[in-house]
Amino acid sequence: MSFVEEHGGWDDGQREAARQLRERVDVEGIEAVRVGVVDLHGLVRGKTVMADQLPGILAGGLPIVSTLLSKDTSGRTVYGAFAPDGGVGVAGMGGAGDVVMVPDPTTFRVLPWAPGTGWLLSDLRLTDGAPVPFDPRGTLRAALARAAERDLELVTGLELEFHLLHVEDGPLDPAEINRPGAPGRARAVSPVDRGYQLLSEDRADALEPFLAELARTLRALGIPLRTVEVEFGPGQVEVTTAPLRGLAGADAVVLLRSAVRSVARRAGLLATFMCRPQLPEACSSGWHLHQSLEHPDGGNAFVGDDGLSEVGRGYLAGLLRHARAGCVFAVPTVNGYKRFQPFSMAPDRVLWAHDNRAAMLRVVGSAERGDLHVENRAGEPAANPYLAMAAQLVAGLDGVDRGLDPGPSADQPYATEAPRLPTSLTEAVRALDGDTELRALLGPALVDHYAGVKRAEVARFEAAVTDWEQREYLHLF
Ligand code: GLU
Ligand code: MG
Repeated sequence: MSFVEEHGGWDDGQREAARQLRERVDVEGIEAVRVGVVDLHGLVRGKTVMADQLPGILAGGLPIVSTLLSKDTSGRTVYGAFAPDGGVGVAGMGGAGDVVMVPDPTTFRVLPWAPGTGWLLSDLRLTDGAPVPFDPRGTLRAALARAAERDLELVTGLELEFHLLHVEDGPLDPAEINRPGAPGRARAVSPVDRGYQLLSEDRADALEPFLAELARTLRALGIPLRTVEVEFGPGQVEVTTAPLRGLAGADAVVLLRSAVRSVARRAGLLATFMCRPQLPEACSSGWHLHQSLEHPDGGNAFVGDDGLSEVGRGYLAGLLRHARAGCVFAVPTVNGYKRFQPFSMAPDRVLWAHDNRAAMLRVVGSAERGDLHVENRAGEPAANPYLAMAAQLVAGLDGVDRGLDPGPSADQPYATEAPRLPTSLTEAVRALDGDTELRALLGPALVDHYAGVKRAEVARFEAAVTDWEQREYLHLF
């Protein structure tokens, strides 16, 4: 039996998709396939496999270095990778050895921007076949299984903002070269427009060559694109999708982000999902995650006789209960916490409200139409979608299990007394340390591993002298 047959955990759908994939590669003249895995930061890393090698990899998997899951955002491995347990307590990850990518053939796409190139996401296994405990895709799979035990399925709608920037051309200066733990100087950038003309048709027209190409590309990738629009800030754009089920929602986020950046790059632009780039008059970018739970028969479990059902109210209350700790997953960067400001359309405290864009949890849609759902506005677009969705799902289900009540809708979200969202990644990591319930629900191994990586990032940030300090103090004192 092959490694994938024995340990891949493929269902019939995946086996059938693999069969079709082998055929497609021949028929469509695909030359190479990017076989990737999603790292802790929601970024795809992997290897490009020549088409004639693909059948072997669909059977045997593809080895990849285990340190990929022990790195911070600067590419620095924060655990002792050469120790027998990789510094992470897992024998199969020792000595910076291999783990195995098991491709998920249902994720296969042909990349519209790269001729003859296919794309596949993988799940991760240790060489003995056991799942890698820090695999974000595996973490979301486990959370979805928890929902399935309750006869519930997660349905998500995506709403992501990003900045579109002109970037200075030319060869790299040595000061721009990265070192693990010390990224090089960022390029000078400027937004593609002046901004603050919300949803302006004129601005959209000016960006038409890029926006139209982006829409074509996303549709060709099978992403159920709903809208593309110019947002508020200079160079800020937004895309939204129709509802997606389960794992497909998170898969769509990584594919969508890759597509946005690739289409922009080919247009000579830089698209960034960084929350709050250092630009004059910048407006933060959010990732609003619309979510509901469905019963297997397709009925929306949030719809009750009189508005939100008990499941819906419990889910809302669970999201509130674990919101501060869950921020580490929804807002995993130092930068993202600068977004939580009052009167900005981003939330600043932990509360919910009916259709109010100042609230962290905005209840929207209609019970009659059946599309009643919760929009969590806390997230930043740089979040790892698997971890962000998993954290929200297990938190919401916890509220359902406990039969919690979310209390009344907040009429004045920026004035109502409620716990504040963390104002820094440091505070968020501390909140996660304090939420032993969320740790148990999400898996202690994953939570401790991820928190360790975030602590390493925070420590580097806190040790760095910023240009703010230089400007504030150098000439003053
Ligand atoms: N940019 C706002 C945020 O940071 C959201 C604006 C909106 O779409 O309502 O979340
Ligand atoms: Mg928006």
